[in-house]
This record gives sequence, structure tokens and C-alpha cells, in this order.
Amino acid sequence: MRIHIGLLGAAKKIAAAALSGFLLLTVFPQAHAALGDGSMVEITAEQARTYSPNNRSNRPNPAFYPLPKGTKDRITGGRVSFRTGGVTHYFYNLASGVRVSADDIREIPRQNLRNEISRLRMSRRGSFIYVTLSMSDRVSYKVTNRSETENTIQFHFANTVSTPGNQRFDSGIFSRTVWDGSTLTLHFAKDNAFWGYTAYYEGDNLILKFRQNPGSIENARIAIEVGHGGKDRGAPGRNPELHETDINRLIARDLARELRERGATVALVGGNDTGPNQRRDRVEAWGADLLISIHCNSAVNRNAAGTEVYFFTAFNHSLAANLSRGVSRALETGNRGAKRGFFNITTSTQMRSVMVESGFMSNQGEYAKLIQRGYQRRIARSIADGIERDF
Ligand SMILES: [Zn+2]
Repeated sequence: MRIHIGLLGAAKKIAAAALSGFLLLTVFPQAHAALGDGSMVEITAEQARTYSPNNRSNRPNPAFYPLPKGTKDRITGGRVSFRTGGVTHYFYNLASGVRVSADDIREIPRQNLRNEISRLRMSRRGSFIYVTLSMSDRVSYKVTNRSETENTIQFHFANTVSTPGNQRFDSGIFSRTVWDGSTLTLHFAKDNAFWGYTAYYEGDNLILKFRQNPGSIENARIAIEVGHGGKDRGAPGRNPELHETDINRLIARDLARELRERGATVALVGGNDTGPNQRRDRVEAWGADLLISIHCNSAVNRNAAGTEVYFFTAFNHSLAANLSRGVSRALETGNRGAKRGFFNITTSTQMRSVMVESGFMSNQGEYAKLIQRGYQRRIARSIADGIERDF
């Protein structure tokens, strides 16, 4: 948090002044001086998380995508603040319909945004499709991709007065673009084509970089996360040598071997003291197409049993449902299905990510199976099968 750095810096200056014997009147910089309604701001974070303007949560929201550095917008209403876990969080609502952290913006001189989008270009580089929009202003926008069955993604641009015409494409992941006012709808050419995206500004060009479905396991970069690790052992096991993270590690290693044998490029993360945000950032930096987080479940009700798979953003739903079905079938457990859950590890909007909970540590019968090497290999094989079916 910037506020701490600011105050520490000021405190150090005072201490130094006191030591050197000078009498100094120090004016503390007002950290987070509230910006007013209508103030013009610019996003300073590389990727600023956005939140719903209609609630006061600081949890990521699956319907809100990040805004890139350089985006300009106007503040509506005053500063929004609330306390959770002893920390006060500050936010602002932007005219484009999203809320951003006060740490991710800075005030800039007022100007009239009047964006003209003169051109949309589609190009392919490596495993990505780039949609380049030539803009006259770096305006803000809101993204909608409510469900994967819609097979579209929409960008609602703020302060935009002109747009290029609709276009058709006969190759790549998009079949056409449709403009309705300042809303761009990108239509995917096939089902299951949206595997995440990143946006950034290059001069006045807004680049939307879409990850393509790798098409086959040989082309896929897959990260496997060993859930928990280090001091955090996860759910306890009856056998103190085999707590959740120990079992997660064995399954993850089996899965890594299985996927490598099938031709995938694989990275293992977690199983140590790193936090989920750090692990997710590492996996994003490595350029994973897909992240599989390996966990075992636990419940107060000791009879709870079966397999479930967690996802966060809509475009991960079908993978989660397929994996839950496939793994539960292979293990002959109950299929508890795809569930939307908030776990930091699976909040990326740049790649696919799901969390597999193949069975319950808290269920005596399932725990007895989960600790068996043969059963762990069956879990790994069924996850690999599910991944292959998803291309
Ligand atoms: Zn866990």
C-alpha cells in the first residue's frame, strides 16, 4: 500500500532532521487525498483490477476484467471506502461503470475525451490473436463475457464518438465484429475458443491479445499447482505424514509426468510457502495456456464425498464441468460438478484455470483411497484425459 511508503518516508525525514538538530516544520503529504466527482484520472497499474460499482467488496468479481495502464476516465461520485480485516480500502467509481482501487490511479489534468476508433486490425503472432484498435484517446471500457455459450465478448467503450464498420474474418478465432454504438462485439468462430485475454496500450493503439485454444496437447503449456505447502499443510489427514498438501504433491507429480508423456510443456508451482497471488503471477509470466490447481476437499460433515471442480470466470465453466464429470467417473465417486468459487489462484483472466478437488480428506473411506499411489495415478490420468478433451 502506497500510504505506508509515503508515511514512512516522511517519518524518516523527520527523524533525520531531528538527529541533525534542525527544527523543521514538516507537512505530511496527504496520502490518498480524496479526488472529487468529475476528476480526470489515469490508470497507473500495469493491469488494474476492476470491481462492481454496486457493492463494497474488495474481492475480484468474475464479471469484471482488468483495465490496462494508461486508460483515462472520469470519477463519478466521491471516494468509496470500507474496512475489512482491519484495513481501510479506498476505491473510486469510474464513468465507464467499474470501480477501481485508489492505489491504481492518479489524477491528471481535465480534458474532454472524444475518442474516435479509426481502424480495427486482426493479426496472429505465435499462439495469440491480436485485435488492434486505433484510437484517438485512451478511453476506458467495460467487458462482458457472461457465459461461454454466448460465444462472444463485448467491449463497451466510454467517450467514443466514432467506430469503424463491421468486419468479417475467414481465419483465426473470430468470425466477425459487430459495432452497436460504441459497443464492439467480437464473435468467436468456434465453441471453446476463448482462453483468456490481456489488454494494453501501445501509443494510442489498444491491443487486445487473445490466447488461442492450443488445439492439441503437444502445443499446450500447462501449469500444475500443488495446493498448500510450506507451513500450510492443507486439510489434515489421519496419517500425519499424509496431510492434504502431501497428497496434492504426489497427484501433481503424477499429472506432470502424464502430461509430459502426452507431449505437453509442463511447469509445477506451489507446495511451498508462496501465496496464491504470487503463484498465479508466476504462472501468468511463464505463459501458461492452462493452470490446474490440485487440492483435496474437506468438510465438517464427515459423510461428504465425491469430486468437484472450481472455476471463477465464465470461460472456465466447461473445462470445470468436463473435469468433474471425467474424474468422478474414473474414480467411481459422486460427481458434485463445476462450482464457482473465489480462490486467488484461479482468478486470472489471461488463461484457463480451474481447481480440482478429487475427493474428501474428511471422509474416512475417501481418505483411505486418496493416500494410495494407484488411486493418485488414476486421478492424474483422468485429469489429463479431461484436459485433452477440452481442446
Ligand atoms: Zn486445499
